[in-house]
Amino acid sequence: MPLLPRRYERLRSVLNRRMGNLTVLLEYVDKPHNISAILRSCDAVGVLEAHAVSLPGRLPIYNDTAQGSQKWVPLHRHRSPTEAIALLRQQGLRLYGTHLGVDSRDYRDCDFTGPTAFVLGAEKWGLSESSAALMDQGILIPMQGMVQSLNVSVAAATLLFEALRQRQAAGVVPERGEGVDPERYPNLLFEWAYPQVASWCRQIGRPYPALTEEGAIDEQLPRHLKLRC
Ligand code: SAM
Repeated sequence: MPLLPRRYERLRSVLNRRMGNLTVLLEYVDKPHNISAILRSCDAVGVLEAHAVSLPGRLPIYNDTAQGSQKWVPLHRHRSPTEAIALLRQQGLRLYGTHLGVDSRDYRDCDFTGPTAFVLGAEKWGLSESSAALMDQGILIPMQGMVQSLNVSVAAATLLFEALRQRQAAGVVPERGEGVDPERYPNLLFEWAYPQVASWCRQIGRPYPALTEEGAIDEQLPRHLKLRC
């Protein structure tokens, strides 16, 4: 069954507002409900993709909290914090390390309208000192209560929505796909619309089929393939 035009329009309009220059890096964040909640906030704000370094021998696991957001915000895994930090820096992102250091600034005084990565630390022990030392800027969300820190997913949501607020105020939130590399855009749209067909194409090493203006696949494919997203 072909994709409904309404569904295709919705996929396109969400992808058109994705921001490749806003992301999070999770350093040893381990609890499924936290990883899931962070990805859900990333999806809500328009983050294109997220990054994580897992504890040795652990895989990021999602639960119902994610509400499927892991399908729309891929989580790239890296072998070490240093490797992840180097890659994000190479992509031109300014790295904001979340910790309560003396040099950390109130997040409301920072400008997140440019390329931004929020680096968040583990539930128990926070951001490692070695990673904190590699950040462009330490930031904190001021606390007024008895407890010293927020839950990591709450901290992530607070920062991501502040970045979105600032970008909306500055009029720099993409609306027509300009936040996604133009070479990647058609492939991403195809993967969102037809994940099973996309995976079959990758397996057999062929390019994705062309789509019509309404989002239908413009060629005859093997009958076993599921055409719905
Ligand atoms: N005991 C840990 C510490 O001292 O850092 C607490 C870790 S906290 C539960 C987990 C992560 O949430 C932190 O590494 C940071 O990324 C984020 N976080 C929590 N509260 C924060 C705050 N007030 N400002 C900025 N980030 C915060």
